[in-house]
Amino acid sequence: MSFDSFGLAEALTRAIRESGYAEPTPIQTQAIPLVLAGHDLLAAAQTGTGKTAAFILPILQRLLGTANPVGPRAARIGHPRVLVLAPTRELAAQVADSARTYGKHTALRTVAIFGGVGMQPQVDALTRGIDVVVATPGRLLDHLARRSLDLSTVETLVLDEADRMLDMGFINDMRKIFARLPERRQTLLFSATFSSDIRKLATSLLREPKTVDVAPRNTAAHTVEHRVHPVPQSRKRELLVNLILEENWYQTLVFTRTKHGANRLATQLGDAGIQTLAIHGNKSQNARTRALADFKAGRLQVLVATDIAARGIDISELPVVVNYELPNVPEDYVHRIGRTGRAGARGKAISLVSGDEMAYLRDIEKLLGHPIERVLLQGFELPLESQGSATERGRAAPRKPVRTAKNPANDHRQRTSAVAPGGTKGRVAGPHGHGNHVAKGEPGHADSTAPRRRRKRGRRGNGASRTGS
Ligand code: AMP
Repeated sequence: MSFDSFGLAEALTRAIRESGYAEPTPIQTQAIPLVLAGHDLLAAAQTGTGKTAAFILPILQRLLGTANPVGPRAARIGHPRVLVLAPTRELAAQVADSARTYGKHTALRTVAIFGGVGMQPQVDALTRGIDVVVATPGRLLDHLARRSLDLSTVETLVLDEADRMLDMGFINDMRKIFARLPERRQTLLFSATFSSDIRKLATSLLREPKTVDVAPRNTAAHTVEHRVHPVPQSRKRELLVNLILEENWYQTLVFTRTKHGANRLATQLGDAGIQTLAIHGNKSQNARTRALADFKAGRLQVLVATDIAARGIDISELPVVVNYELPNVPEDYVHRIGRTGRAGARGKAISLVSGDEMAYLRDIEKLLGHPIERVLLQGFELPLESQGSATERGRAAPRKPVRTAKNPANDHRQRTSAVAPGGTKGRVAGPHGHGNHVAKGEPGHADSTAPRRRRKRGRRGNGASRTGS
């Protein structure tokens, strides 16, 4: 399959070539012909699948292929032909960037509309003539109230990350916006998950929609390696610092549950000599944009984010995403790790899980439809009684000693060197290169004699198994 087979205008295929895309992703292969044919679309696709190009490219093609009914540019002040609604400023800015990138050899104009920045520059941009508006619901309503925007000419409406818009409580704002749109239009709804609320919304908005489902619903990209490190809450920071330094992680996105937690962790990682910034809703739009730009450019090793601030962060092929705390809504796990292993690249999703988060972990595994591998790291083991059921327990994988005042390395160094001399980061490598696990009922967990037995099994290649729960 190649991009040429869609029959897109040369201006668009040129931009695609310049973006370096060799071939369309599955969502693009399925969605582009349907959108070109004018169908409504209900698409199950998470961020990272290439979904933005899947709707922007055919939309731009349709705009190029038909004359603007509103007439010449001067007459279409504030009259977009396409409206994309997105839950967050970051996502709106990124979708607008994509529209500009793919449309750069055309005369089509895209304007991003979101809060947290001045109103007037947006009003000015709207009055210069526009084709595509990408907006968050709240700021869009402000413009409608000021009459700097009129939606009566919209031909295509896109709801991007619709599930997140509902989660964030935008439904009333969205209804007000829908009321301003023409009845006759094309509507495309993209969502990572399909709750009953999303289905209800789809039924009320879409007409005879075609459905596109690229990844099995509610599952994460297959190119992501998931790993759970059970660890006491009080040791998480130290473990994270060790993992970042030992495994030489760069461009690492770390999730915390709260803004306060994000700030604190960013400071602590900074104190450990790791270039880190936090982004969350309390930071100004400028600070967030700057942090994101530094992160994308590789000037920042770690970005700590809360779920809401991280929505729509678009960084392709992010190598590592860390859940410093598990989300209490399992769908958020899928959203979070949607930023790694993108567009076919391999990525790691690492979760540091304390005893009181085990119930969240079980919910996440239920949603994913498979268990996540547990790897206990020596020196950071969660006490057995905090690890949940027997089948959830992993066994301590020996790793490099951790040299801190609190955790004198000597004892561990002995164990590690006796057990895994020159081993891969001190870990016992099984077929998957991870630590081993205890089968149900197997004697001996993280006891002092375990490493010797483990290594023997690891060598025979039958020691590593994925845990079930
Ligand atoms: P999205 O799911 O829209 O957030 O896209 C995820 C990432 O994939 C973005 O960084 C895109 O630039 C990239 N991407 C989109 N389409 C392709 C493609 N056909 N080949 C390679 N990368 C792509």
